[in-house]
Amino acid sequence: MIDTAKTLPSGTILDADICIVGAGAAGIALALQFADTDKTVLLIESGDVAENPEIQALYEGSVVDPALHSPADRYRQRVFGGTTTIWGGRCIPFDPIDFDLRAWIDNSGWPIEYAEVAGYYPAANALCEAGDCDYDARSALGAPMRPMIEGFHSSHFNADSLERFSCPTNFAARYGHRLSASRNIRVLLNANCTEIVANNRGDHVDHIILRTLSGGHFEARARKFILAMGGLEIPRILLASNRVHPRGIGNGHDLVGRYYMCHIAGTIGDVRFSVPKEQVWHGYENAWDGVYCRRRLALTPETQRALQVGNVVMRLHHPRLVDPGHQTGILSAIYLAKPLISYEYAKRLYGPDPVGLGDYLRHVLNVVSQPIRTARFLADWAWRRTLAVRKFPSIIIASTANRYSLDVHAEQIPNPESRVSLAETRDPLGLPRIAIDWRYTAADIDTVATALRLLKQDFAAWGGGTLEYDEDEVEAAMLREGAYGGHHIGTARMGRTAEEGVVDRDCRVFGIDNLYIAGSAVFPTSSQANPTLTIVAMALRLADHLRHRFAPSTIAAGVTAQEHE
Ligand SMILES: Cc1cc2nc3c(=O)[nH]c(=O)nc-3n(C[C@H](O)[C@H](O)[C@H](O)COP(=O)(O)OP(=O)(O)OC[C@H]3O[C@@H](n4cnc5c(N)ncnc54)[C@H](O)[C@@H]3O)c2cc1C
Repeated sequence: MIDTAKTLPSGTILDADICIVGAGAAGIALALQFADTDKTVLLIESGDVAENPEIQALYEGSVVDPALHSPADRYRQRVFGGTTTIWGGRCIPFDPIDFDLRAWIDNSGWPIEYAEVAGYYPAANALCEAGDCDYDARSALGAPMRPMIEGFHSSHFNADSLERFSCPTNFAARYGHRLSASRNIRVLLNANCTEIVANNRGDHVDHIILRTLSGGHFEARARKFILAMGGLEIPRILLASNRVHPRGIGNGHDLVGRYYMCHIAGTIGDVRFSVPKEQVWHGYENAWDGVYCRRRLALTPETQRALQVGNVVMRLHHPRLVDPGHQTGILSAIYLAKPLISYEYAKRLYGPDPVGLGDYLRHVLNVVSQPIRTARFLADWAWRRTLAVRKFPSIIIASTANRYSLDVHAEQIPNPESRVSLAETRDPLGLPRIAIDWRYTAADIDTVATALRLLKQDFAAWGGGTLEYDEDEVEAAMLREGAYGGHHIGTARMGRTAEEGVVDRDCRVFGIDNLYIAGSAVFPTSSQANPTLTIVAMALRLADHLRHRFAPSTIAAGVTAQEHE
C-alpha cells in the first residue's frame, strides 16, 4: 500500500515489525526483500510522488566553504525514490583492496571482507538494471573485444575494467507498483522522521517521531528500525536525537558526522595519440543485453600498494567544454544549452568559471561552422538520451584530432576533520539544519598526481601517445568544481568496536539493539567507484541479517528484481 501522512489523524501510533526511514535506493531495495513475507514493513518517506520545493527545502543547511561543496539541498532529492530520481546510473562494484587495512592509509580497513559483499552484487545489479554482474571487458563484451587503446600495455593500469550503466533506474517509478501491491508493506509518504526516541536505558529504540509540514505528528513503533535517509541526513537525525544520549544516538565516541568523504574528481591534461584514431576507443559499448558499458584506466591494486596511494580511475574525455578553443560545434552547442541543464549536471559540465562575450561568440561560431554534424548529433542525442528507456549515459564526441583530456575519479582518504554537524538554525519542523565542513588532504591529491605521472611515463615508454599537463595544476583541476556531488560517504562508519565506528559489521548502531543504518554513511572508505551499487548490495546484505534475526523459518527467501518479473 502507498499512503500519505497528510490524511493521517494526528496522534496516530503506527506499528510494524520493520520500520525503514527513507525510500531511496537503499530503503526501497531493503523493503522489497520483505515483500509478501509475514513481516509487516513500514517505509517512511518525507517526499511525495513528485518533487515539492517546500519538502526539498527541508534539506537546506550551511556549507563552510561553498567553493568546495555544493549547497546542502543540492545533489540529493527529498522525494519518493530519493536521489535515484536524478542519478546518472553509473554502476561499479568496489574493489577488494577498498576493504583492506592499508597501512599507508589512515583509518582504512572495513570490519568485513570484500567476499562478504561480493555475493550481493549480482542481485544489486539486477535491481539497478545494470545487466550481468560482469565488470571485465574480456568476458562481458564478447570476442573479438575492441581494446580501449590498441597496443598500449601497462602493468600500472587495467584498461579492461568496465563500468555499467543503469537505465538510469528511478527506484520509485520502477518498484513503486511492487511496493504498492505487496500486502505487508505500507509506504507512508509526506512523513518526516524528526526524532529517534530511545528507552530510558538508551539501548533500544522505543519509537520514532514523524511530522508533516501541515502540522500532523505521529509515532512509529517497530521491532527493528533502519535509517536509509542518505549520507547527510543520517548523521543529522542521529545527532539531533539527544533526549537520552546528550551527544546524539551512536555518538558516544564523537564519530557521527566525521570522516565525511565524497570523491576527488576533475578533468585534466592533453592526451594526443599518434596511432590511428581507429585504435583508440573511448566511447560506450553495449553488452549483449543492451546495457551501456565503458572502459577506463584503473590503477592496479599492486601499484596502489607499491606506491602507497589510494584507488583511482581515469577515462578518456572530450576537451573542456567551456573553452571554445576545442573548435567543436557539438561541444559549443552543449555549452550554449547551459540554461536548460539542471544544477547538478551543469556544475560538472561547465565548471565555475564565467565565459566572456568573446568566448561566447566563438562558441556560436563553432556551432554555425559545423551545422550538419552538430544538428545530427543533437537529434541523435534527443532520441537516445531523452526518449529511449535505456538512456545513452553521457556526451561522447569522437575526436577528429585524436586528442582527449582525462576525466579522473579518485578515492578520498577518510579524515575525521571532514565532517557534518548540526547548525544553529532549524527547519520548519524544528530539526536543526546541517553544517557541512568537507575537507580534502594532500594524500587525496597525491593519489591523482601519482596516477597522472605514471600514465605520462607509460605513454612515453609505449610511444603511441603523450600526456601533457601541468603538475602544479593538479590540485586546482581536482578542486575546480569542489567535492564530487551526490556521493555522501562515511558519516556513520562501520567499525570493529564502538571506539572505531558508529555501526558494527551488521550495520547495527553500537549500543542500540534494534537500530540499523543502510547507505553509504556506513562505508569506512570511498573507493574509486560510485556508491549506489554498493549501497544496494549492502542493503541486501542487511536484509539477510534482519531475516536471520527474526525467526528464520517464517520468512520467505529474498526477492530480487528478476524473481519479481
Ligand atoms: C546528479 C547525480 C548523479 C548521480 N549519479 C550517480 C551514478 O552515476 N552512480 C552512482 O553510483 N551514484 C550516483 N549518484 C548518487 C546516488 O544518487 C546516491 O548514491 C543514491 O541515491 C543514495 O541512495 P540512498 O537511498 O542512500 O539515498 P537517497 O536516494 O537520497 O534516498 C534517501 C531518502 O530518504 C528520504 N528522507 C530524508 N530525510 C528523511 C526524513 N527525515 N524522514 C523521512 N524520509 C527522509 C529522502 O526523501 C529520500 O527519499 C548521483 C547523485 C546525483 C545527485
